[in-house]
Amino acid sequence: MKWIVIGLLLAVYVFEMLVALLNHRYRTKPIPENLKDVYDEEGYQKWLAYSLDTHRFGLVKRGFNLAIMVAFLLLGVFARLEEVTNAWTSSPILASLYFLGLFQTIVIVLGIPFKYYGMFFIEARHGFNRATHATFVKDLFMQYVMIMVLGGLIVAGIHAIYLQFTGNLWTFIFVTWGMITLVMILIFTFLNKVFLRLFNKFSPLPEGTLRTRIEDLASSLGFNIKSLSVMDASRRSTKLNAFFTGIGKSKEVVLFDTLIEKMSEDEIVAVLAHELGHAVHKDTWRMLIQQIVVILIYATGIGLVLGSAELATSFGLTGIHFGFALILFMILFEPIEILLSIPLSALSRRAEYKADRFAAEKTDNKAMISALKVLSREDLVNLNPHPLAVIIYYSHPPMKERVAALEKR
Ligand SMILES: [Zn+2]
Repeated sequence: MKWIVIGLLLAVYVFEMLVALLNHRYRTKPIPENLKDVYDEEGYQKWLAYSLDTHRFGLVKRGFNLAIMVAFLLLGVFARLEEVTNAWTSSPILASLYFLGLFQTIVIVLGIPFKYYGMFFIEARHGFNRATHATFVKDLFMQYVMIMVLGGLIVAGIHAIYLQFTGNLWTFIFVTWGMITLVMILIFTFLNKVFLRLFNKFSPLPEGTLRTRIEDLASSLGFNIKSLSVMDASRRSTKLNAFFTGIGKSKEVVLFDTLIEKMSEDEIVAVLAHELGHAVHKDTWRMLIQQIVVILIYATGIGLVLGSAELATSFGLTGIHFGFALILFMILFEPIEILLSIPLSALSRRAEYKADRFAAEKTDNKAMISALKVLSREDLVNLNPHPLAVIIYYSHPPMKERVAALEKR
């Protein structure tokens, strides 16, 4: 049992490494004809340097994470954690909260140097990072608190369900499914907004042509804009984005201040039309339903891992341990996650083409194409991803294909 888990962990690592290397080798291919004007020579060199840096950093970071996990598993660290946390309390729910809390804290603390280096050396070297040390510390702290509180509540909830239905695996699976789905819908519909506001400042988009054009576009498509705000994303990064929140016809629009800085009005309106296209095509609903199905698969996975005492004892634990089962589940389900992401990303890429087409129809084809190019340049997008990387990870089609699809119109 022990070696199956370690073997899976290694196999996933080797596979991901392989895709990363293939993808990396593709980067020096000639720039696609239809994206020739994205970078000038200097910009292209900048991109090559950035991609080399992030590639190397990714290899080191993933290697380090793997080493930590293997060491924890082989050196009996989890058995030791069980012993320590069981001594702190007699409540099984509290014991698993302490167990996972301690483990998560160790993982987060070990990850801090990587986060710091990634932000203040790599992203900064290429001009992306705008965060100060104070922002870094504040974000880290808030994220930690959020993981502990939200993660703690979810773990406690599932554990309570488990204690209730220990002998009845399928009841446990279905009740857990229901609970996680409920939490997800809660996050999806309104907690998301709360979280974003914890980390960013929002101010209303000032009156002017941009505002009027966005409002006109939305109302011509039958949407009602509840609020139109600018998020101070530039406090952290120079990368661009825009999004909508709200289900149904009433939308809250959020523009990154970096988007307003870097794109023309025509381009911004085209980007928003793309986003509204997702709403018109009911992509949000499709994603929600997909998530609910995925949660059922996960709940089943947790149930199956919890059903095997041997899995826990082979790593030196005294028997079935709820906290350890969740950690094992994450390892064992990684290959399934990769497999699941293949059809799900394919669906998502198809939806992106449709949203692009929608934006081109409702606004301006040229503006949509140039918006994609600005996005590619400002975010240093990979212009030549390896097809295998696209199949597995890309929720959006490669830029050259998106632009080609629009040019064909
Ligand atoms: Zn999209």
